[in-house]
Parts: sequence; structure tokens; C-alpha cells
Amino acid sequence: MIEILREPDLIRIAPLSQMLEAAGIRTFIRNEHVSVTEPTLPVFSPALCIMDEGDHQRALELIREFEEAPSGNPDELVKCPACGEESPGTFAQCWSCHGELGPAGSPPPR
Ligand SMILES: [Zn+2]
Repeated sequence: MIEILREPDLIRIAPLSQMLEAAGIRTFIRNEHVSVTEPTLPVFSPALCIMDEGDHQRALELIREFEEAPSGNPDELVKCPACGEESPGTFAQCWSCHGELGPAGSPPPR
């Protein structure tokens, strides 16, 4: 078992754990039940661990993709490949032309 991410906020770890589990990577959240209402030492912060070291690289890549994914970040604006209008990252469709929004940064379809 190796730790891949440590966050004081369990709210950020839980969805990542679910996402990795969905991708077939077995995860474990250390210190899941630490109280967040009391100040704790960083060593007691919740930590996302994976059970199999062989999944390490893949897990890191999935986390990076997850954090960059438009659906994962409502603060980020996604530019519509069809009309160029910007929609919130949580939108699957452009608010303006209802075209499908690809992942941020991908080239427009031809
Ligand atoms: Zn559009």
C-alpha cells in the first residue's frame, strides 16, 4: 500500500478515491475518520492510498486528468469548439449553441 495524495480536506479525497475505484484501482483512505473540526497535525490528515504499487503511475495520471476534466472543476470555463462561447466546466453542452463540449484544450472536431 502506498500513499499517493495527502489532503487536509476529506471532501477532495473521497471523489478521487471513487474515481480510482471505478477505474479498477483499489484504494484506501487513511485517517478517514479524523475530525476536521479540530486542528490536526499534517501527519493525521486524510491520505489517499492505493493497495497495489503497480497502479501508482496510472493512479497519478487519472488524478491529474480528473482534476483537469471540465466536469471536475466548475470554476473553469470551457470554450465551445463550435461557436467559441465559454461555458462553466460543469456543462456538458454549450449554453449558446448546445454543441457538445470536449475536454478543455482539445482541438475542435473537423
Ligand atoms: Zn457553442
